Amino acid sequence: EKKYDYLIVGAGLFGSVFAHEMTKRNKKCLVIDKRDHLGGNVYCEEKEGINVHKYGAHIFHTNDKRIWDYVNQFATFNNYVNSPVSLSKGKLYNLPFNMNTFYQLWGTKTPEEAKAVIDKQIEEYGSKSPKNLEEQALSLVGKDIYETLIKEYTEKQWGKKATELPAFIIKRLPVRYTYNNNYFNDKYQGIPEGGYNTIIEGLLEGVETKTGVDFFQDKEHLLSLADNIVYTGKIDEFYEYKYGQLEYRSLRFEHELHDMPNYQGNAVVNYNDSEYAFTRIIEHKHFEFGNQEKTIVTKEYPEQWDRSKEAYYPINNDQNQEIFRQYKKEAEKEDSVIFGGRLAEYRYYDMHQIIASSLNKVQEVLKLEANT
Ligand code: FAD
Repeated sequence: EKKYDYLIVGAGLFGSVFAHEMTKRNKKCLVIDKRDHLGGNVYCEEKEGINVHKYGAHIFHTNDKRIWDYVNQFATFNNYVNSPVSLSKGKLYNLPFNMNTFYQLWGTKTPEEAKAVIDKQIEEYGSKSPKNLEEQALSLVGKDIYETLIKEYTEKQWGKKATELPAFIIKRLPVRYTYNNNYFNDKYQGIPEGGYNTIIEGLLEGVETKTGVDFFQDKEHLLSLADNIVYTGKIDEFYEYKYGQLEYRSLRFEHELHDMPNYQGNAVVNYNDSEYAFTRIIEHKHFEFGNQEKTIVTKEYPEQWDRSKEAYYPINNDQNQEIFRQYKKEAEKEDSVIFGGRLAEYRYYDMHQIIASSLNKVQEVLKLEANT
């Protein structure tokens, strides 16, 4: 008889939801994380009374009432609505692309006028079978929106020319013919009062946790402690990179404290132009309508990734998908290791999707257990 039913590697949302659900069902869980804190990428660090989103701005949004009710068990959500603005060649534009943006670009006042401009530009600059991201974007929204609000931002994000990026990166570019600056279309949206740590603390209440523990540094011992492993780290690392290394895009965050109450008047300001190496500036207090005397802003610089850096965005190309397929095949053969979360599944997931995926995994495991 081992000490734990589950050793959970990674205290992000996937691992925390899994631990919570299993603990509720009287399973013994141990959650470890190699970082010096719990929460994974949703972790917030409090400074000057402000919750700083340490691994990038996180806005909770979902259409799924089940997931919304689930997170509301652990925190009260405020009514923050994400409405970024984008600075381009000295002018500010509303996002997502909507009637305000079109007015700022062309002075058009009605949906009909705006649609006429976009349709004309699509006809003039679009192509029937776009071969790269630039051609794709021109075919979806025309020249002005592409050049003003997409091109240079995207090139900074991926570190490549738009003409060298695959078309499939941009599947759709929604244009909205109403004066509505709400970035998301989901029914539910907000920021947890007290930050995301509140949710993680709620999930992990009564669960044994250890931070500063890297699974690979103490693997044999850790494996001897539990019947099952839930692994939410990088899948290629789990298999010692034997089929090759999966690639990511990384980010570098530069935090600045300013002795003023309000730096930019909005939580998110995008910087489209290539002359700025960062893609956006986040002013954290605005997520929670803070009125502290000082403010903290974060510049987000896209970076090339290597193993010494945080892995943020999977690079979705054929080569990586082929490598991932081999790891996945191997993973499916394991009978006491469960793989889940963004790093083990090599997939970009939003928070609500990760929670749903973890809850589904719990159901799957319980069903299997009931049948044996
Ligand atoms: P993680 O949170 O990364 O947790 C995995 C954990 O495993 C980490 O803490 C890691 O330290 C640990 N770990 C890994 N290997 C080991 C090891 N060997 N030993 C011990 N521990 C290990 N989603 C939204 O819904 N809205 C947003 O606005 C939003 N913004 C985002 C912005 C950025 C810049 C990024 C990158 C993501 C954003 N997301 C957003 C997505 C969100 O961050 C993820 O859905 C979520 O954090 C994934 O949770 P996870 O548990 O899968 O992974």
